Amino acid sequence: LLSPDGTLGVTIFEEMTTLALQTGAINLGQGFPDEDGPVEIKAAAQAAIAAGANQYAPGKGILELREAISLHQERFYGLEPDPQTEIIVTTGATEAIAASLLALVGPGDEVLTFEPFYDSYGAIIGLSGARHVTAPLLAPDFMPDLAALDAAFSSRTRVVLVNNPHNPTGAVFPREVLERVVELAIRHDAVIITDEVYEHLTFGARHIPVATLPGAAGRTLTISSAGKTFSFTGWKIGWLSGPEHLIAAARTVKQFLSYSSGTPFQSAIAAGLGLPDEFYAGIADTLQLKRDILSEGLRAAGLDVFTPQGTYFVNVDTAPLGITDAVELARRLPALVGVAAIPVPVFCHPEGAERTRSLLRFAFCKRIDVLQEAAERLATLR
Ligand code: PMP
Ligand code: GLN
Repeated sequence: LLSPDGTLGVTIFEEMTTLALQTGAINLGQGFPDEDGPVEIKAAAQAAIAAGANQYAPGKGILELREAISLHQERFYGLEPDPQTEIIVTTGATEAIAASLLALVGPGDEVLTFEPFYDSYGAIIGLSGARHVTAPLLAPDFMPDLAALDAAFSSRTRVVLVNNPHNPTGAVFPREVLERVVELAIRHDAVIITDEVYEHLTFGARHIPVATLPGAAGRTLTISSAGKTFSFTGWKIGWLSGPEHLIAAARTVKQFLSYSSGTPFQSAIAAGLGLPDEFYAGIADTLQLKRDILSEGLRAAGLDVFTPQGTYFVNVDTAPLGITDAVELARRLPALVGVAAIPVPVFCHPEGAERTRSLLRFAFCKRIDVLQEAAERLATLR
């Protein structure tokens, strides 16, 4: 159920991080930054702990954070979710994904995602008992074939689960693609769950939240996470927003997954969401520079680079080096050149895995000197 070969196992992220540690390789596999986020957010967490914010938070999250999430959505997107009924705080986006899917689908239902898809989608859809149906994203730009998307919907489609900006491909979907998703969801009376954890990590392309599109708000649950925006992946603070009846359903499930989420981190993230526009522009600019440094190194190593418009991942095709099995290469790469990456086929069902069999994903959320060193090591692949 939980791993691509059908056995229960550790996630690919854990496997590759362990391998990187064992071999001393630079870990460009699991996506986590190697520098912490803003000092003022760290200080806010320490102040909250010192002030005694150390017992259970309310199940739906502390009011201060729910209000900050609402203000953030108003400031960037003109949305105004009600902090009392239309927002819940979750233990990372991971719990938001689990709580919303487990609340809405079960045996007999279908959940539609693009493919490749983030690993927890497949696992949670499996746990729910629903059927996971996919529509492919195709290289080089990883945009969906809209006819295939239409065909993937059926009368059983209960949820369409979008991820934009998209992990692992780095695609940022334009308005036409998102409008088609909304149109099809309306036609099939499906709920849209949209995972927008990389909302602020885009390079030139504008992020369009699904909930802002005509006809979408009443059937859309939006997920985000402090892990990505503020570089505190270990704090596990995420959130879910949307219409009251859908939030209430997800909240019911959340009660029995984690009950509540880390109290002092919530008040620190509430402070973080209020940081000035320069902070948000700055994280994207810095990441774009890092993207370009790593991409240049990957190109120099003889790989075909698919330039991402968002996220902190870049995908390459290893076929120009005569490689046909990215899973096998990813297992050898740390010992071979001292760099770890994630094979794209693990984000796919068998047919999609065949289509992506020579693709690897590298994370560039690392210090510039680390990326330069990785580029030098990768050059020896050629
Ligand atoms: N969704 C996507 C698309 C992700 O890439 C990730 C993790 N990086 C998550 C969800 C999980 O986020 P969190 O760490 O907040 O649980
Ligand atoms: N989302 C991160 C990635 O795609 C990993 C998170 C995890 O290890 N579950 O690399």
